[in-house]
Amino acid sequence: MEEMDTPTTTSEDDFPAASVASPACRFCAAPLTISMVDLGMSPLCESVVLPEQLDAMEPFYPLHVRVCDRCLLVQLPEYVKPEEIFTEYAYFSGNSDSWVAHARRYADLMVARYGLGTDDLVVELASNDGYLLGHFVAQGIPVLGVEPAVNVAAVAVQRGVRTLNRFFGAGTARAIVEEHGHASLVPANNVLAHVPDINDFVEGIAILLGDGGVATLEFPHVMRLIADNQFDTIYHEHYSYLSLLTTERIFAAHGLELVDVEELPTHGGSLRIFARRVGSGREPVSPRVEALRDAERAAGLDGLDGYRGYGAQVQATKRELLDFLHGAQRDGRQVVGYGAPGKGNTLLNYCAIRADLLRYTVDRNRYKQGTYLPGTHIGVHDPAHLAETRPDYILILPWNLRDEIAEQLAYTREWGARLVVPIPRLEMFAP
Ligand SMILES: [Zn+2]
Repeated sequence: MEEMDTPTTTSEDDFPAASVASPACRFCAAPLTISMVDLGMSPLCESVVLPEQLDAMEPFYPLHVRVCDRCLLVQLPEYVKPEEIFTEYAYFSGNSDSWVAHARRYADLMVARYGLGTDDLVVELASNDGYLLGHFVAQGIPVLGVEPAVNVAAVAVQRGVRTLNRFFGAGTARAIVEEHGHASLVPANNVLAHVPDINDFVEGIAILLGDGGVATLEFPHVMRLIADNQFDTIYHEHYSYLSLLTTERIFAAHGLELVDVEELPTHGGSLRIFARRVGSGREPVSPRVEALRDAERAAGLDGLDGYRGYGAQVQATKRELLDFLHGAQRDGRQVVGYGAPGKGNTLLNYCAIRADLLRYTVDRNRYKQGTYLPGTHIGVHDPAHLAETRPDYILILPWNLRDEIAEQLAYTREWGARLVVPIPRLEMFAP
């Protein structure tokens, strides 16, 4: 493992004390003594409560984010095993219009940039329902997906995308190389942040890549989590919150270097990194890498400074939202929600908002209609319910889609409804 940079020293008073027994950093194994933000106990954010389960017990787990003072990896301890979350997963990427378009652009871009053809192999990690790989299959490029969720992997196979139904790590990588050879391209989208054993996962990438191969990984950027106050993107299966600086350190420990980086608007602000084996360099390192390192240093992310005060900022956001909800209730105004995303469940549970403050929410996904949100038991209705009940305020839970949703809700002007977003700051506006 490489020599760590020593972050600027901090006095103990700058951060609230973490719990008595400190878990160990998943990258460098140092004890995690520094608390960045504690959102209390929360249920798994993608779970749903059926009407017949309303009187049953529900498991709650801590959402306490720490920052490692040795390597600066921001992380949640493994409160919940990935096997409990990812083996039967309700999320099908082919169901999201914006993801489908993103996947097509990505495939075209990679085929052009690396001149991929029938002699190459694309191995996607967390390949979901095979939607992305389908674009390579259509161009005659051999593919292999690795996907742990049984139900989504089955959909990929039906789609004609060769898929290995297991978790990825060094062991799986060795087995793939033995059977299929090295990969020319390894896409891994929204999975690096979701693996508890990040060393085993990145080591697997190093094994999978031949000397000419490149891996591209997308993950939410911790700089945006902090700067844009996106604390509701903290949930149990999101184990690591990555900066470029920390990611470089982790990859370097496994013989990989980052040769390019792009900032993407997905998930409120993501990074797409390009990694190769050190010294395999067919392409020079893009100046974008140093530019982003500079931006992170300017934000204080090369030391503990950039993480200071986040917990207090989150608490202030909670007070602001509760002030609004209590005020509306005192004035006899009806407030309801729009959407039932995972991030909404983090927000509502952290703020202890239940149906007395937020009457109900609506979602276009008909599988969620007629169910209740985990923990808060707020009912989920068809969006048509809005016109029937004419609420005064509509709180948009997927705030990252606010413009799109405001357009869909233009008809609520008819009764003078106001739209509200909670993040980055509470804001009210006309639809
Ligand atoms: Zn560490």
